[in-house]
Amino acid sequence: MSEQLLKWVRPEIRELSAYQVPDARGLIKLDAMENPYGLPSELQREWQRGLSSVAINRYPDPTASALHDCLTEVMQVPQDRSILLGNGSDELIQMLALSVAARDRCILSFEPGFVMYSMIARYTGMTYVGVPLAADFSLDLDLVRAAIERHQPALIFVAYPNNPTGNLFDAAAIEEIIRMAPGLAVVDEAYHPFAQTSFMPRLKDYEQLLVMRTVSKMGLAGLRLGVLCGAPALINEVDKVRLPYNINVLTQYTAEFVLAHADFLVGQAEMIRADRDALLQQMASMSQVEVFPSQANFILFRLKHADATAVFDKLRADGILIKNMDRPGPLASCLRVTVGRPEENRLFIRALENALSPQRSAL
Ligand SMILES: *Cc1c(COP(=O)(O)O)cnc(C)c1O
Repeated sequence: MSEQLLKWVRPEIRELSAYQVPDARGLIKLDAMENPYGLPSELQREWQRGLSSVAINRYPDPTASALHDCLTEVMQVPQDRSILLGNGSDELIQMLALSVAARDRCILSFEPGFVMYSMIARYTGMTYVGVPLAADFSLDLDLVRAAIERHQPALIFVAYPNNPTGNLFDAAAIEEIIRMAPGLAVVDEAYHPFAQTSFMPRLKDYEQLLVMRTVSKMGLAGLRLGVLCGAPALINEVDKVRLPYNINVLTQYTAEFVLAHADFLVGQAEMIRADRDALLQQMASMSQVEVFPSQANFILFRLKHADATAVFDKLRADGILIKNMDRPGPLASCLRVTVGRPEENRLFIRALENALSPQRSAL
């Protein structure tokens, strides 16, 4: 490829490496915060029957009005607030950024944090300010205050619970950040089903507050559907950068169908929470492992003595794919595991024990 041609690509894009999704074929997949269960078989049949009447030759309902109503009810969006749907909440982050982007403006969030906030800042020509979290991954309000005053962020993202750390920040600290925000403040509640606490009821108190949800982590990651809730005047503006028909007919049909039977998702989230707590306990009893508290469906842990990347590789060789977070900085020697089915969790624990005790693996 000629350099003449590639020079047209913006330098900040050329510097990036593309978002890496590892090949999980043949592996137990505990890397991406997916719900391991899927639809119960009787619902699966009913869903398939309905699928045959979806008109794939037609454009979707541009406003997805039925799905709108359904989500507003299921997610208990306050009456005087509106919602906007995205092709995953990643698309909503992009729409938010596009609607405020300018060269001298920034997005502010926290480190370690969700990578898409900084990636999308870059895609949209904005700068990114990552305020470091304290050593226990809590918010350091003095640092946050100073960064907000200095950088005057157009957009602030707070993941609640945070990814990749798994903890819930102090709610009073988040409220203070919302009050300090010169621009929009987004509370990203991707892990809401596992945290059972929300800023949704506080939407009415702050017009600068937006609450973002997704159906991905609750069990519908394949659909790509995110929800942004906020003041109607603000939502209407962000809606202008939405590409027409961003929610396809299959997603609209399936999400409506599943949300009409949402009980099973509630039950699955409950099982995952119980399994998470059991896994946390088991890992906390392993002398070589430091586990961080989690209110999400994944657990961040640090290996006190072993080489984390070597342990990650051993687990993969044993058929278990988790996420390697090991890099210099606050996540040094850290790995992240998603809570799977009980049997998968057992196999993970066994493989981890094995990876950490060379004598045993030699048996
Ligand atoms: C997974 C995740 C998302 C992305 O969700 P999608 O709806 O699948 O795009 C957003 N925010 C956080 C913090 C996440 O961990």
